[in-house]
Amino acid sequence: MTPFTYTAKPSRVVFGVGSLQFLGREIEMMGGKRALVLATPGHAESARRVAAMLGPRAVGVFAEARMHVPIETARAAREEARRLGADCAVAIGGGSTVGLGKAVALEAEGDFAILAIPTTYAGSEMTPIYGLTEGGMKKTGRDVRVLPKTVLYDPELTLTLPLPLSLTSIFNAIAHACEGLYADDGNPITALMAEEGIRAAASAIPRLSREPRDLDARCDALYAAWLCGSVLGSVAMGLHHKLCHTLGGTFNLPHAEVHTVILPHVLAYNAPAAREAMSRIGRALGTGSQSASMGIFDLARTHGAPTALRDIGMPEAGLDRATDLAVQSQYPNPRPLERGAIRELLQRAFDGTRPG
Ligand code: NAD
Repeated sequence: MTPFTYTAKPSRVVFGVGSLQFLGREIEMMGGKRALVLATPGHAESARRVAAMLGPRAVGVFAEARMHVPIETARAAREEARRLGADCAVAIGGGSTVGLGKAVALEAEGDFAILAIPTTYAGSEMTPIYGLTEGGMKKTGRDVRVLPKTVLYDPELTLTLPLPLSLTSIFNAIAHACEGLYADDGNPITALMAEEGIRAAASAIPRLSREPRDLDARCDALYAAWLCGSVLGSVAMGLHHKLCHTLGGTFNLPHAEVHTVILPHVLAYNAPAAREAMSRIGRALGTGSQSASMGIFDLARTHGAPTALRDIGMPEAGLDRATDLAVQSQYPNPRPLERGAIRELLQRAFDGTRPG
Protein backbone atom coordinates (compact mmCIF):
# COMPACT_ATOMS: atom_id res chain seq x y z
CA MET A 1 0.00 0.00 0.00
CA THR A 2 1.24 3.50 -0.78
CA PRO A 3 2.03 5.41 2.44
CA PHE A 4 -0.43 8.22 3.21
CA THR A 5 -1.37 10.97 5.65
CA TYR A 6 -4.92 11.49 6.85
CA THR A 7 -5.97 14.30 9.20
CA ALA A 8 -9.38 13.73 10.80
CA LYS A 9 -11.37 16.95 11.18
CA PRO A 10 -12.68 17.65 14.68
CA SER A 11 -16.41 17.93 14.18
CA ARG A 12 -19.38 16.25 15.78
CA VAL A 13 -22.18 15.00 13.53
CA VAL A 14 -25.72 14.21 14.62
CA PHE A 15 -27.63 12.60 11.79
CA GLY A 16 -31.23 11.45 11.46
CA VAL A 17 -34.84 12.31 10.76
CA GLY A 18 -36.00 14.72 13.47
CA SER A 19 -32.48 15.45 14.77
CA LEU A 20 -33.34 19.17 14.95
CA GLN A 21 -34.99 18.28 18.29
CA PHE A 22 -31.46 17.85 19.74
CA LEU A 23 -30.51 21.45 19.06
CA GLY A 24 -30.72 22.52 22.74
CA ARG A 25 -28.61 19.61 23.91
CA GLU A 26 -26.06 20.19 21.16
CA ILE A 27 -25.63 23.92 21.70
CA GLU A 28 -25.09 23.23 25.38
CA MET A 29 -22.48 20.53 24.65
CA MET A 30 -20.78 22.92 22.24
CA GLY A 31 -20.60 25.49 25.04
CA GLY A 32 -22.61 28.12 23.11
CA LYS A 33 -24.39 30.63 25.36
CA ARG A 34 -25.22 33.53 23.04
CA ALA A 35 -26.05 32.31 19.54
CA LEU A 36 -26.64 34.47 16.48
CA VAL A 37 -28.92 32.52 14.13
CA LEU A 38 -28.06 32.91 10.45
CA ALA A 39 -30.17 32.21 7.34
CA THR A 40 -30.96 33.50 3.85
CA PRO A 41 -33.96 35.86 3.54
CA GLY A 42 -35.99 32.91 2.21
CA HIS A 43 -35.23 30.94 5.35
CA ALA A 44 -35.97 33.74 7.86
CA GLU A 45 -38.94 31.83 9.24
CA SER A 46 -36.83 28.71 9.93
CA ALA A 47 -34.24 30.93 11.59
CA ARG A 48 -36.88 32.43 13.90
CA ARG A 49 -38.11 28.90 14.74
CA VAL A 50 -34.56 27.86 15.60
CA ALA A 51 -34.11 30.97 17.74
CA ALA A 52 -37.34 30.15 19.59
CA MET A 53 -36.08 26.60 20.23
CA LEU A 54 -32.86 28.03 21.66
CA GLY A 55 -34.74 30.36 24.03
CA PRO A 56 -32.33 32.55 26.04
CA ARG A 57 -29.33 30.98 24.27
CA ALA A 58 -30.30 32.88 21.09
CA VAL A 59 -29.41 36.58 21.05
CA GLY A 60 -30.58 37.43 17.53
CA VAL A 61 -31.45 36.44 13.98
CA PHE A 62 -29.55 37.67 10.93
CA ALA A 63 -31.38 36.43 7.81
CA GLU A 64 -29.39 38.24 5.13
CA ALA A 65 -27.07 35.48 3.85
CA ARG A 66 -26.34 35.75 0.11
CA MET A 67 -24.65 33.47 -2.44
CA HIS A 68 -20.81 33.67 -2.42
CA VAL A 69 -20.70 35.77 0.80
CA PRO A 70 -20.42 39.39 -0.40
CA ILE A 71 -17.99 41.26 1.86
CA GLU A 72 -20.71 43.81 2.75
CA THR A 73 -22.94 41.01 4.08
CA ALA A 74 -20.02 39.50 6.01
CA ARG A 75 -19.25 42.90 7.58
CA ALA A 76 -22.89 43.46 8.55
CA ALA A 77 -23.11 39.99 10.15
CA ARG A 78 -19.82 40.50 12.02
CA GLU A 79 -21.07 43.85 13.30
CA GLU A 80 -24.34 42.30 14.44
CA ALA A 81 -22.46 39.48 16.21
CA ARG A 82 -20.27 42.05 18.00
CA ARG A 83 -23.20 44.29 18.91
CA LEU A 84 -25.11 41.37 20.43
CA GLY A 85 -22.07 39.84 22.12
CA ALA A 86 -22.61 36.54 20.30
CA ASP A 87 -20.21 33.71 21.15
CA CYS A 88 -21.40 31.31 18.43
CA ALA A 89 -23.50 31.08 15.27
CA VAL A 90 -26.24 28.65 14.36
CA ALA A 91 -26.37 28.52 10.56
CA ILE A 92 -29.52 26.97 9.07
CA GLY A 93 -29.46 26.72 5.28
CA GLY A 94 -27.19 25.81 2.39
CA GLY A 95 -23.62 26.72 1.53
CA SER A 96 -24.39 30.45 1.47
CA THR A 97 -25.58 30.51 5.07
CA VAL A 98 -22.82 28.24 6.37
CA GLY A 99 -20.40 30.45 4.42
CA LEU A 100 -21.67 33.53 6.26
CA GLY A 101 -21.13 31.76 9.59
CA LYS A 102 -17.57 31.03 8.50
CA ALA A 103 -16.97 34.69 7.60
CA VAL A 104 -18.09 35.71 11.09
CA ALA A 105 -15.99 33.02 12.82
CA LEU A 106 -12.92 34.02 10.81
CA GLU A 107 -12.77 37.53 12.26
CA ALA A 108 -14.26 36.90 15.70
CA GLU A 109 -12.24 37.81 18.76
CA GLY A 110 -11.69 34.71 20.88
CA ASP A 111 -13.45 31.38 20.38
CA PHE A 112 -16.46 31.51 18.12
CA ALA A 113 -18.06 28.16 17.28
CA ILE A 114 -20.50 27.32 14.48
CA LEU A 115 -23.35 24.86 14.74
CA ALA A 116 -24.49 24.09 11.19
CA ILE A 117 -27.88 22.76 10.16
CA PRO A 118 -27.49 22.07 6.41
CA THR A 119 -30.57 22.14 4.21
CA THR A 120 -28.87 21.48 0.83
CA TYR A 121 -26.23 18.98 -0.27
CA ALA A 122 -23.36 21.45 -0.93
CA GLY A 123 -21.22 20.09 1.94
CA SER A 124 -19.66 23.35 3.18
CA GLU A 125 -20.44 22.36 6.78
CA MET A 126 -17.72 19.68 6.67
CA THR A 127 -14.91 21.89 5.38
CA PRO A 128 -12.47 24.44 6.80
CA ILE A 129 -12.77 26.34 3.48
CA TYR A 130 -14.23 29.86 3.45
CA GLY A 131 -15.04 32.21 0.58
CA LEU A 132 -15.59 35.97 0.41
CA THR A 133 -16.54 38.07 -2.60
CA GLU A 134 -15.24 41.62 -2.96
CA GLY A 135 -15.46 43.78 -6.09
CA GLY A 136 -16.75 40.83 -8.15
CA MET A 137 -13.80 38.59 -7.19
CA LYS A 138 -14.32 35.58 -4.96
CA LYS A 139 -11.38 34.60 -2.80
CA THR A 140 -11.20 31.37 -0.86
CA GLY A 141 -8.96 30.20 1.95
CA ARG A 142 -8.62 27.47 4.54
CA ASP A 143 -8.69 28.01 8.29
CA VAL A 144 -9.62 25.45 10.89
CA ARG A 145 -11.41 28.19 12.91
CA VAL A 146 -14.24 28.20 10.33
CA LEU A 147 -14.94 24.46 10.49
CA PRO A 148 -18.34 24.00 12.19
CA LYS A 149 -17.92 22.33 15.56
CA THR A 150 -21.26 20.53 15.41
CA VAL A 151 -23.42 19.57 12.42
CA LEU A 152 -27.06 18.58 12.75
CA TYR A 153 -28.20 16.71 9.65
CA ASP A 154 -31.97 16.42 9.65
CA PRO A 155 -33.27 15.08 6.30
CA GLU A 156 -36.76 16.40 7.07
CA LEU A 157 -35.43 19.94 6.57
CA THR A 158 -34.52 19.12 2.96
CA LEU A 159 -38.06 18.09 1.97
CA THR A 160 -38.82 21.68 0.95
CA LEU A 161 -35.77 21.96 -1.33
CA PRO A 162 -37.28 22.20 -4.84
CA LEU A 163 -36.53 19.17 -7.04
CA PRO A 164 -34.34 21.01 -9.62
CA LEU A 165 -32.11 22.44 -6.85
CA SER A 166 -32.13 19.09 -5.03
CA LEU A 167 -30.77 17.33 -8.11
CA THR A 168 -28.10 19.89 -8.97
CA SER A 169 -27.07 20.12 -5.33
CA ILE A 170 -26.56 16.32 -5.30
CA PHE A 171 -24.34 16.64 -8.40
CA ASN A 172 -22.42 19.34 -6.52
CA ALA A 173 -21.75 16.74 -3.81
CA ILE A 174 -20.80 14.06 -6.35
CA ALA A 175 -18.27 16.47 -7.88
CA HIS A 176 -16.39 16.80 -4.55
CA ALA A 177 -16.11 13.01 -4.33
CA CYS A 178 -15.03 12.55 -7.96
CA GLU A 179 -12.20 15.07 -7.65
CA GLY A 180 -11.27 13.57 -4.29
CA LEU A 181 -10.74 10.20 -5.96
CA TYR A 182 -7.95 11.52 -8.15
CA ALA A 183 -6.47 14.09 -5.73
CA ASP A 184 -2.75 13.59 -5.30
CA ASP A 185 -3.13 14.01 -1.53
CA GLY A 186 -6.01 11.49 -1.48
CA ASN A 187 -5.82 8.43 0.73
CA PRO A 188 -7.73 5.17 1.31
CA ILE A 189 -10.02 6.81 3.90
CA THR A 190 -11.18 9.69 1.70
CA ALA A 191 -11.50 7.23 -1.21
CA LEU A 192 -13.87 5.08 0.85
CA MET A 193 -15.95 8.12 1.75
CA ALA A 194 -15.94 9.32 -1.86
CA GLU A 195 -17.07 6.04 -3.36
CA GLU A 196 -19.79 5.52 -0.76
CA GLY A 197 -20.86 9.16 -1.18
CA ILE A 198 -21.25 8.80 -4.96
CA ARG A 199 -23.14 5.52 -4.51
CA ALA A 200 -25.60 7.03 -2.01
CA ALA A 201 -26.01 10.21 -4.09
CA ALA A 202 -26.60 8.39 -7.36
CA SER A 203 -29.15 6.09 -5.75
CA ALA A 204 -31.09 9.08 -4.38
CA ILE A 205 -31.44 10.86 -7.74
CA PRO A 206 -33.99 8.59 -9.51
CA ARG A 207 -35.96 8.13 -6.29
CA LEU A 208 -36.24 11.90 -5.66
CA SER A 209 -37.02 12.52 -9.27
CA ARG A 210 -40.01 10.13 -8.94
CA GLU A 211 -41.04 11.41 -5.50
CA PRO A 212 -39.33 14.54 -4.13
CA ARG A 213 -40.80 13.85 -0.66
CA ASP A 214 -39.26 10.36 -0.43
CA LEU A 215 -37.69 10.68 3.02
CA ASP A 216 -35.46 7.60 2.61
CA ALA A 217 -34.01 9.10 -0.56
CA ARG A 218 -33.56 12.44 1.26
CA CYS A 219 -31.64 10.56 3.98
CA ASP A 220 -29.33 8.99 1.38
CA ALA A 221 -28.77 12.35 -0.33
CA LEU A 222 -27.88 14.08 2.95
CA TYR A 223 -25.65 11.18 4.01
CA ALA A 224 -23.91 11.58 0.64
CA ALA A 225 -23.57 15.32 1.24
CA TRP A 226 -21.81 14.61 4.52
CA LEU A 227 -19.40 12.08 2.99
CA CYS A 228 -18.65 14.14 -0.12
CA GLY A 229 -18.27 17.34 1.92
CA SER A 230 -15.76 15.53 4.16
CA VAL A 231 -13.74 14.61 1.07
CA LEU A 232 -13.82 18.23 -0.11
CA GLY A 233 -12.59 19.33 3.31
CA SER A 234 -9.73 16.81 3.37
CA VAL A 235 -8.02 16.80 -0.02
CA ALA A 236 -7.15 19.25 -2.81
CA MET A 237 -9.64 19.79 -5.63
CA GLY A 238 -8.62 20.06 -9.29
CA LEU A 239 -9.77 21.36 -12.67
CA HIS A 240 -13.48 20.84 -12.04
CA HIS A 241 -13.63 23.04 -8.95
CA LYS A 242 -11.36 25.62 -10.57
CA LEU A 243 -13.63 25.89 -13.62
CA CYS A 244 -16.80 26.05 -11.53
CA HIS A 245 -15.29 28.70 -9.27
CA THR A 246 -14.31 30.77 -12.32
CA LEU A 247 -17.64 30.39 -14.10
CA GLY A 248 -19.64 31.06 -10.93
CA GLY A 249 -17.56 34.04 -9.83
CA THR A 250 -16.83 35.77 -13.15
CA PHE A 251 -20.08 35.07 -14.99
CA ASN A 252 -22.36 34.90 -11.97
CA LEU A 253 -23.72 31.48 -12.92
CA PRO A 254 -25.72 29.49 -10.35
CA HIS A 255 -23.35 27.35 -8.24
CA ALA A 256 -24.96 23.89 -8.18
CA GLU A 257 -26.07 24.05 -11.84
CA VAL A 258 -22.53 24.86 -13.01
CA HIS A 259 -21.18 21.86 -11.12
CA THR A 260 -23.80 19.64 -12.75
CA VAL A 261 -22.99 20.78 -16.30
CA ILE A 262 -19.19 20.82 -16.01
CA LEU A 263 -18.54 17.55 -14.16
CA PRO A 264 -18.96 15.00 -17.01
CA HIS A 265 -16.69 17.06 -19.28
CA VAL A 266 -13.90 17.37 -16.71
CA LEU A 267 -14.12 13.63 -16.04
CA ALA A 268 -13.74 12.97 -19.78
CA TYR A 269 -10.73 15.35 -19.85
CA ASN A 270 -9.05 13.69 -16.85
CA ALA A 271 -9.98 10.06 -17.64
CA PRO A 272 -6.75 9.12 -19.49
CA ALA A 273 -4.70 10.27 -16.49
CA ALA A 274 -6.92 8.86 -13.72
CA ARG A 275 -8.05 5.36 -14.70
CA GLU A 276 -8.38 3.97 -11.16
CA ALA A 277 -10.54 6.94 -10.05
CA MET A 278 -12.77 6.57 -13.12
CA SER A 279 -13.35 2.90 -12.49
CA ARG A 280 -14.25 3.64 -8.85
CA ILE A 281 -16.68 6.36 -9.97
CA GLY A 282 -18.21 3.98 -12.54
CA ARG A 283 -18.54 1.27 -9.88
CA ALA A 284 -20.23 3.70 -7.47
CA LEU A 285 -22.62 4.89 -10.17
CA GLY A 286 -23.42 1.30 -11.10
CA THR A 287 -23.19 2.10 -14.79
CA GLY A 288 -21.31 -1.07 -15.77
CA SER A 289 -18.88 -0.69 -18.64
CA GLN A 290 -20.04 2.85 -19.51
CA SER A 291 -17.44 5.54 -18.79
CA ALA A 292 -17.74 7.65 -15.62
CA SER A 293 -18.22 10.80 -17.68
CA MET A 294 -21.08 9.33 -19.74
CA GLY A 295 -22.60 7.87 -16.58
CA ILE A 296 -22.74 11.30 -14.92
CA PHE A 297 -23.99 13.02 -18.07
CA ASP A 298 -26.77 10.47 -18.60
CA LEU A 299 -27.80 10.60 -14.95
CA ALA A 300 -28.26 14.37 -15.25
CA ARG A 301 -30.00 14.29 -18.62
CA THR A 302 -32.38 11.44 -17.73
CA HIS A 303 -33.64 13.27 -14.67
CA GLY A 304 -33.96 16.70 -16.25
CA ALA A 305 -30.93 18.37 -14.64
CA PRO A 306 -29.15 20.96 -16.82
CA THR A 307 -26.48 19.66 -19.21
CA ALA A 308 -25.52 22.81 -21.17
CA LEU A 309 -23.90 26.07 -20.03
CA ARG A 310 -25.95 27.93 -22.65
CA ASP A 311 -29.10 26.99 -20.71
CA ILE A 312 -27.89 28.40 -17.38
CA GLY A 313 -26.87 31.89 -18.47
CA MET A 314 -23.32 31.50 -19.81
CA PRO A 315 -22.49 33.88 -22.70
CA GLU A 316 -20.65 32.00 -25.48
CA ALA A 317 -18.36 35.02 -25.87
CA GLY A 318 -17.04 34.36 -22.36
CA LEU A 319 -15.61 30.90 -23.10
CA ASP A 320 -12.17 32.22 -24.10
CA ARG A 321 -11.87 34.30 -20.96
CA ALA A 322 -13.01 31.37 -18.80
CA THR A 323 -10.29 29.24 -20.42
CA ASP A 324 -7.63 31.89 -19.75
CA LEU A 325 -8.65 32.13 -16.11
CA ALA A 326 -8.65 28.34 -15.71
CA VAL A 327 -5.08 27.95 -16.98
CA GLN A 328 -3.70 31.16 -15.41
CA SER A 329 -2.41 29.54 -12.23
CA GLN A 330 -1.13 26.03 -11.59
CA TYR A 331 -3.04 23.70 -9.28
CA PRO A 332 -3.04 19.94 -8.85
CA ASN A 333 -4.87 17.99 -11.55
CA PRO A 334 -4.14 14.49 -12.86
CA ARG A 335 -3.87 15.67 -16.48
CA PRO A 336 -1.75 18.75 -17.16
CA LEU A 337 -3.73 21.88 -18.02
CA GLU A 338 -3.78 22.18 -21.82
CA ARG A 339 -5.33 25.41 -23.03
CA GLY A 340 -6.67 24.06 -26.34
CA ALA A 341 -8.22 20.96 -24.80
CA ILE A 342 -9.80 22.98 -21.97
CA ARG A 343 -11.30 25.42 -24.50
CA GLU A 344 -12.82 22.42 -26.33
CA LEU A 345 -14.09 21.02 -23.02
CA LEU A 346 -15.87 24.32 -22.33
CA GLN A 347 -17.37 24.40 -25.81
CA ARG A 348 -18.82 20.92 -25.34
CA ALA A 349 -20.15 21.95 -21.92
CA PHE A 350 -21.64 25.07 -23.50
CA ASP A 351 -23.38 23.07 -26.22
CA GLY A 352 -24.39 20.21 -23.90
CA THR A 353 -22.66 17.58 -26.04
CA ARG A 354 -22.56 14.09 -24.54
CA PRO A 355 -18.94 13.21 -23.67
CA GLY A 356 -17.32 10.48 -25.73
P1 NAD B 1 -27.54 28.29 -1.22
O1 NAD B 1 -27.11 28.14 0.17
O2 NAD B 1 -27.20 29.58 -1.89
O3 NAD B 1 -29.09 28.03 -1.32
C1 NAD B 1 -29.76 28.23 -2.56
C2 NAD B 1 -31.19 28.67 -2.32
O4 NAD B 1 -31.94 27.59 -1.79
C3 NAD B 1 -31.31 29.81 -1.31
O5 NAD B 1 -32.26 30.73 -1.77
C4 NAD B 1 -31.81 29.12 -0.06
O6 NAD B 1 -32.56 29.95 0.78
C5 NAD B 1 -32.64 28.00 -0.64
N1 NAD B 1 -32.75 26.80 0.21
C6 NAD B 1 -31.73 26.21 0.87
N2 NAD B 1 -32.20 25.12 1.51
C7 NAD B 1 -33.52 25.03 1.25
C8 NAD B 1 -34.55 24.11 1.61
N3 NAD B 1 -34.30 23.03 2.36
N4 NAD B 1 -35.80 24.34 1.17
C9 NAD B 1 -36.06 25.41 0.36
N5 NAD B 1 -35.15 26.30 -0.02
C10 NAD B 1 -33.88 26.11 0.41
O7 NAD B 1 -26.97 27.13 -2.16
P2 NAD B 1 -25.86 26.02 -1.97
O8 NAD B 1 -25.74 25.38 -3.30
O9 NAD B 1 -26.15 25.17 -0.78
O10 NAD B 1 -24.55 26.83 -1.61
C11 NAD B 1 -23.82 27.51 -2.60
C12 NAD B 1 -22.76 28.38 -1.96
O11 NAD B 1 -22.00 27.60 -1.04
C13 NAD B 1 -21.76 28.92 -2.98
O12 NAD B 1 -21.41 30.23 -2.63
C14 NAD B 1 -20.57 27.99 -2.84
O13 NAD B 1 -19.37 28.57 -3.27
C15 NAD B 1 -20.60 27.69 -1.37
N6 NAD B 1 -19.98 26.40 -1.01
C16 NAD B 1 -18.89 26.45 -0.19
C17 NAD B 1 -18.26 25.28 0.20
C18 NAD B 1 -17.08 25.34 1.13
O14 NAD B 1 -16.52 24.32 1.50
N7 NAD B 1 -16.65 26.52 1.54
C19 NAD B 1 -18.72 24.03 -0.25
C20 NAD B 1 -19.84 24.02 -1.10
C21 NAD B 1 -20.47 25.21 -1.45
